[in-house]
Amino acid sequence: MSTTPMMAQYLEIKAAHPGALLFYRMGDFYEMFFDDAVNAAAALDIALTKRGKHDGDDIPMCGVPVHSAEGYLLTLIRKGFRVAVCEQMESPAEAKKRGSKSVVKRDVVRLVTPGTLIEESLLEARRHNFLAAVAEVRDKCALAWVDISTGAFHVMALDLAQLGPELARLAPSELVVADTKEEVLRPISEDFGIPVTTLGLAAFDSAAGMGRLCDLFRVATLDAYGSFDRAEVGAMGALVEYLEITQKGNLPLLRPPLQETQSKTVQIDAATRRNLELTAGLSGGRAGSLLETVDKTVTAAGARLLERRLSSPSRVLETVSNRIDAVSFCVSDQDFCQSVRTALRSVPDMDRALSRLSLDRGGPRDLTALRAGLTQAQTLAGLTQTEFPTLLTGAFGDLTGHDALIDQLAADLVAEPLLLVRDGGFIASGCDAELDEARKLRDEGRSVIAQLQQDYAKTTAVQSLKIKYNNVLGYFIEVTATHADKMMSVPLSETFIHRQTTANQVRFTTVDLSSLETRILNAGSQAIEIEKRHYERLKGLVLDAAPQISQTSRALAEIDLTTGLAHLAVTENWCKPTLDTSRTFDIAGGRHPVVERALRQQGGDPFIANDCVLNAEDTAAIWLLTGPNMAGKSTFLRQNALITILAQTGSFVPATHAHIGLVSQIFSRVGASDDLARGRSTFMVEMVETAAILNQADDRALVILDEIGRGTATYDGLSIAWATLEHLHDVNKSRALFATHYHEMTALAAKLDGVENATVTVKEWEGEVIFLHEVRRGAADRSYGVQVAQLAGLPSAVIARARVVLDALESGEREGGATQKTLIDDLPLFSATPAPAPAKLKPSPALELLEAIHPDDLSPRDALDLIYKLKDAA
Ligand code: ADP
Repeated sequence: MSTTPMMAQYLEIKAAHPGALLFYRMGDFYEMFFDDAVNAAAALDIALTKRGKHDGDDIPMCGVPVHSAEGYLLTLIRKGFRVAVCEQMESPAEAKKRGSKSVVKRDVVRLVTPGTLIEESLLEARRHNFLAAVAEVRDKCALAWVDISTGAFHVMALDLAQLGPELARLAPSELVVADTKEEVLRPISEDFGIPVTTLGLAAFDSAAGMGRLCDLFRVATLDAYGSFDRAEVGAMGALVEYLEITQKGNLPLLRPPLQETQSKTVQIDAATRRNLELTAGLSGGRAGSLLETVDKTVTAAGARLLERRLSSPSRVLETVSNRIDAVSFCVSDQDFCQSVRTALRSVPDMDRALSRLSLDRGGPRDLTALRAGLTQAQTLAGLTQTEFPTLLTGAFGDLTGHDALIDQLAADLVAEPLLLVRDGGFIASGCDAELDEARKLRDEGRSVIAQLQQDYAKTTAVQSLKIKYNNVLGYFIEVTATHADKMMSVPLSETFIHRQTTANQVRFTTVDLSSLETRILNAGSQAIEIEKRHYERLKGLVLDAAPQISQTSRALAEIDLTTGLAHLAVTENWCKPTLDTSRTFDIAGGRHPVVERALRQQGGDPFIANDCVLNAEDTAAIWLLTGPNMAGKSTFLRQNALITILAQTGSFVPATHAHIGLVSQIFSRVGASDDLARGRSTFMVEMVETAAILNQADDRALVILDEIGRGTATYDGLSIAWATLEHLHDVNKSRALFATHYHEMTALAAKLDGVENATVTVKEWEGEVIFLHEVRRGAADRSYGVQVAQLAGLPSAVIARARVVLDALESGEREGGATQKTLIDDLPLFSATPAPAPAKLKPSPALELLEAIHPDDLSPRDALDLIYKLKDAA
């Protein structure tokens, strides 16, 4: 059986978009066929039907209505599909004109992927939606990322090893990689749940990329934006190429690329981010995160800026100080701060409005949103003060300069337009005389005709003259037969043209009437056409001013963030931190903002504030924290990391006093964090992470280690924890907090200069522990593990037996291990057979070969020969 023309068209378009579900527009539906239909019906839980036959088999089909397609799109994208949206490019009538059998022209107008969403309903207003690409050129590697819904565009050179941490920081929705590098890069990306898209290596070519970027920004070179290496250009170029593919040439409005360098921000790796719950809580969403607790911004752009800042705190003293000074100014002038926040509440999301307009997916409301935003910015500028600190002077200075555009948008647009251009009605009356007339005709056709009838009755002196309408003649003038002669003789016959004579009436038309008729009939569509023209004109004006509008929008976000942080500082009673380039770490009355808020919400005991002083003039400075489980060790550790992050973000901090020498890296490890999903044992993860710290932390790092070694047998764990602490102290020389339940380690304080003991206090009362949550210098007297187990509700028989075992073990230790031995024999868990000595390994021939090599003496040719030899030897 032959394929129908429509099916042939479908198959052709489908073949051109492999890897994507094809949304094939048919009237009011997007239809899917074949496997697409089967997969989509299952993913969307909609009915699977069939339509016609192909090669003798039924064609599976399903469809979604166009008006509710966005919701379905979102579900599909979330489930990992990519969708090619194929529209009808002409009306069925137009297709017919080309021939009775012609199929309506269709084409894919857009490929929807997770990183290229811009629909308001598909995006989270307060979060970025980044699309990222990674390029490797020779030994250089770079990551570029873009948010097409706001125009933000960034690039950064990095080592491949740094890719994971950066992906964790940015959390892009999609990563574009070259197909040749997929094998290496896909696992890194998927570790963070980021879907990978591959492009041919050519898309990453730096020369082609340079061309694409220069075209995009209409410049001859990128020098004005920075000096980019080949990898950076390759990554940015690939992004632009991918956007061209997905947006079908309709490129979004991108800001010039901002070059980021890792040396300016605090380095925080993925595990630390997760562990500190910076921007996402344990459940993955915002709930329970630091971000959720500190976000008092009132605009979406402000919220996005906060997330960016919190994810990458600065380590440039001037930047941090400027931000803190701005917050401090707002704290001290609460009236100003509140007026600003009130004014900001009505600022819409200008970045996203601009982006929709540039991608031709905007509407009149985007224009009015910009009008409202720019007007509000102007109002805010009225609050400028002469004694502003630097950051506010800059931001407030960027709020104005849009008078002409605001006037134009105010004069030409109604107050509250409909969503779509094609609905019309958004251009204000008085803007265009032709439009006003068309609308008048459309709305008041009858009265215009009545007026004309009156005029004609007067000029002809035929009082009974009527203007009527029927489907055959359209509008016509009708007089009774008695007046016919008069109408048909000069001078009236020069104006009135005879159309028809009936039994009693004679009908005429005039040139004016027939043109009025056409105008009335066309007025509606004409009005829309005129409105469309104005829409394009206004859109052009806005896009021409896009760079200045973005600048104002950025300034508004900065002001929102600053006043939001000031509001937070006042309501939560936070203090202004002092930052400098020393290695001081001195926090008085520190609190954990998230735990404190949770406790307050539960209405229970208040949060107990604690000091932390790490004296790190030129040695390491480590607090070794002991205390029973549940005493508050983890909370204390994390709160000091969070205070540091907040301070370097430019915020006040939850403490009564804070003096911090700038921190370059923050590491946080928690023992026994399960990562079974990735198939690694708990202990293995812990060790991999600890290794990363010991290899990377420098003397400006802040390290937090919580119960390292817990995941293995006691003595192994203790030895590892012990050696780790020594290494941190002697080699890394970092500022560190080290929580442990191994009391034996408290002896280290006497041995190592930079180590001090601290403990979280508890009280014992009638055999039960009471947690005081107070951190003080000194070592814990014992661990209270059994008491804590009792609190947790372990059966009393188990508790009683545990007490016996504990007593025996403790006295055994005192008496030199005899009792311990007896007990250990009792307990299969501890029975350890000595490990066999490792057999001496014979070195492999390949290794021997390698050892004999002197790389500096090798020519490239020798090196190649050697590789062949090595391969043979392996
Ligand atoms: P640990 O790490 O010692 O086992 P956590 O830090 O997990 O203990 O704290 C256990 C619980 O104690 C927390 O969930 C919190 O509710 C409470 N807590 C911790 N620190 C404080 C504090 N400083 N003030 C009040 N409650 C606290």
